[in-house]
Amino acid sequence: MLTAIVGINWGDEGKGRMVDLLSQDYDIVVRYQGGNNAGHTVVNERGKFILNLLPSGILRPEVTCVMGNGMVIDLTHLHKEIASLREKGVVITPDNLKISDRAIICMPYHVRQDCLEEDRLGDAKYGSTRRGIAPVYGDKYLKKVIRMGDLRFPEALDKHLDSIVEWKNLFIEKAYGSTPIDADDLKKHLKELADEFLPYVTDTGVFLNESNKAGKRIMFEAQLGALRDIDFGINPYTSSSNTIAAYAPIGAGVPNLKLDNVIGIMKAYSSCVGEGPFVAEYFGEKGERLRKLGAEYGAATGRPRRVGPFDVVASRYGIRCQGADEIALTKLDVLSDYDEIEVCTAYTLNCKKIDTFPTTALLNECKPVLETVKGWHTDISKCRKKKDLPKEALDYIKYLENACECKIKYVSVGPEREAYVKL
Ligand code: GDP
Repeated sequence: MLTAIVGINWGDEGKGRMVDLLSQDYDIVVRYQGGNNAGHTVVNERGKFILNLLPSGILRPEVTCVMGNGMVIDLTHLHKEIASLREKGVVITPDNLKISDRAIICMPYHVRQDCLEEDRLGDAKYGSTRRGIAPVYGDKYLKKVIRMGDLRFPEALDKHLDSIVEWKNLFIEKAYGSTPIDADDLKKHLKELADEFLPYVTDTGVFLNESNKAGKRIMFEAQLGALRDIDFGINPYTSSSNTIAAYAPIGAGVPNLKLDNVIGIMKAYSSCVGEGPFVAEYFGEKGERLRKLGAEYGAATGRPRRVGPFDVVASRYGIRCQGADEIALTKLDVLSDYDEIEVCTAYTLNCKKIDTFPTTALLNECKPVLETVKGWHTDISKCRKKKDLPKEALDYIKYLENACECKIKYVSVGPEREAYVKL
């Protein structure tokens, strides 16, 4: 059984909490793209955890976690993340964590370059998390990166690093006028990390293929949402990797395997971190109210998120890009305060109504068409069965289901693991 759990919207849909919940039925959880720009928040009986690099399945002792070749890994960050989880009693060993020998190392100079570029852009910045993600993925396609498996060959690595540093300083020193990076510092940095991480490094493609043959159930965990996908998202306000489910087998190391199903995580309203067009955005008091109700502040950066009503146009596009078979609708409880709930059902572009999601330049010109549906105005955070949900909440779910043309199978009504309803 191969399942991908992916974001339908701009990210922060609650993928981490749904992976934490649904991973009870899986043996292996794989992260297939992205780096420590992710911030998956998981609340369970062991406490509250924010996972940036580790797959959310790490909190279940019986689950094996894999960091796939599609990821970019800041090893200093991973060291800290593992240490903080161990402090809370989470066991992490090469038995339950495997890192692909093809995964790319996000180096300190990638973080420097990310910051230098965002600062250079000034007001026109992309809204990067400044964690080196765009520069390291850029270098991937320039074929000037260090992969986890390279740590096994220190002599060849030193040579490779010398040539990368010489090239990198052309940008850091000559283009940005910043202090050059030093190859010897980086070699020392990598040697220390190699000792720590090499025991976890393996050919995860072989591991996953063998596990699949043995009948193990594998879940692929995405970071961010469809609208941040490098190809299909709101360019350039995207992440630098493919967040979509079709990429999951590739980024995990098993391009030969086909997914059995795709679960899309979709939020009951809209939120978005960073820059770029966000058609149905709420401003002023309206925005502040929803932001507070939903506690919409970034897990990775603490930045206040932009918020708005559920956006049918964007979500339907997200569902299509993901090829979602079913939906888990999250944070429905956040809307309990409203008498009436707005939904963005279409956009107007040059005075014409459209219901397809356009490219960035046109998106900037779009205005939202809003409809209003009745709210339930009662606390639903204790609901655990379909029959516990008020009629208006069920009507809202049905409304979204019809508008998005995809079955909603789960609804979450609180951040805790058990705070959900299976429909
Ligand atoms: P992810 O990156 O997609 O995993 O999402 P984040 O962790 O960035 O953001 C989701 C936030 O919503 C986290 O703080 C979760 O604890 C919280 N959350 C998840 N599901 C629910 C829910 O059903 N209700 C409420 N109130 N909060 C939720």
